[in-house]
Amino acid sequence: MNTHHQSTTNSIDLQFDKDHLWHPYTSMTNALPAYGVIAANGVELQLENGKKLIDGTSSWWACIHGYSHPKIVAAMQQQTAQLSHVMFGGITHRPAVELARLLVDMTSPKLTKVFLADSGSIAVEVAMKMALQYWQGRSQPSKQKILTIKNGYHGDTFAAMSVCDPEGGMHTMFGELVTKQLFAPAPQSKFNQAFNPQELDEISAIFADNHQHIAALLVEPIMQGAGGMRFYHPDYLAALRQLCDKYNVLLILDEIATGFGRTGKLFAYEHSAIEADILCLGKALTGGYISLAATMCTDEVAQGVSDSPAGVFMHGPTFMGNPLACAAAVASLELIKENHWQQQIGAIEAQLKQELAEAADYPNVVDVRVLGGVGVLEMSNILDTAQLQQQFVDLGVWIRPFSNLIYIMPPYCISSADLSKLTTAMKIVAKQTELPNATGEFISHG
Ligand SMILES: *Cc1c(COP(=O)(O)O)cnc(C)c1O
Repeated sequence: MNTHHQSTTNSIDLQFDKDHLWHPYTSMTNALPAYGVIAANGVELQLENGKKLIDGTSSWWACIHGYSHPKIVAAMQQQTAQLSHVMFGGITHRPAVELARLLVDMTSPKLTKVFLADSGSIAVEVAMKMALQYWQGRSQPSKQKILTIKNGYHGDTFAAMSVCDPEGGMHTMFGELVTKQLFAPAPQSKFNQAFNPQELDEISAIFADNHQHIAALLVEPIMQGAGGMRFYHPDYLAALRQLCDKYNVLLILDEIATGFGRTGKLFAYEHSAIEADILCLGKALTGGYISLAATMCTDEVAQGVSDSPAGVFMHGPTFMGNPLACAAAVASLELIKENHWQQQIGAIEAQLKQELAEAADYPNVVDVRVLGGVGVLEMSNILDTAQLQQQFVDLGVWIRPFSNLIYIMPPYCISSADLSKLTTAMKIVAKQTELPNATGEFISHG
């Protein structure tokens, strides 16, 4: 693209973007290239130059039914015309009520209360505030720490960062603004292998020594996402529930990435047949059409919060319960309730297992793993995201590697032929990938 051109109304000014717009986790002065997308339909993103890419990311776990789904688009159009937004203080509306009803029905029986938040990170903040206020209402105000496990990812705001993996840099980078929490080792037993109960020793000891100060245990159930795409054993999660019960600690499950079918169960905690005290939902909640998240809790937690000195829950953002976002979520959850997701995820899982298996023999692939609609190639070296991104675009797919991981989580509605294009591209790129050269620069040959 000729970057010296003045922008016209029809073209995306990529140079202006580069000069002025921050993108996620990027440098403003040394920006990685961004690709101009003008439309998206089904599983395809349409680039400005006319090229179409099969989406392997669901726009970061969110777009589970595909882009421009007529049902979600119609629900949002109708809602925009009728009531796009109204304050939630002292006012309610049908989209919020319908959404809450669907969420209460879909989740485990004890989760009866719904707090609507703006984004996943905020849902995590809300969950942590609920836990602290709960213990104030139960006359144990010293319970203020959050216990979590290493390799986690829970968002980018300050309280959420405090429970992200402590090796990630966030903890030292922002100094004392990041609260010190308690960290247990990451779970080791893999989803499909035998469970080693010894891996509970350290976390059990942390519970025993610190429970008077622990408000909640906060973890991603079964799949640790942005912290390394690791799938851990259901018995481990079940054991965590037991430890929480034994030591009077709340269990907060962060299902923001795993919720709504992605791992093969509607919610990942179902793999362990447990219930959370507080549950965070986000990402796929609106089918990926607009930002919305939810924090759900039990009657007991809500009662404890009400018994706290504040008497109310201390949170209430300007755009809380936004009707447009709620309408999108209702439409998306109705699609979930039509119940094609189980068969779709089952087919995706089987095909991913079959087509990715051979990559285990490639020299730079250290692990191949699949769970539900998630397929991962773990490489032996840190990848050059910008360079691999271009290769994937050249191959007609949208896959965004990070760290040493090439992974996909496509929309549930992807066809078998399109899924094959994704796995083929993953294998081509993984095979070509070479170890970093002496300068630490990343090379590949084709
Ligand atoms: C993405 C994610 C978050 C943060 O959600 P945002 O909407 O990006 O703020 C929190 N927890 C998990 C497990 C996530 O995958």
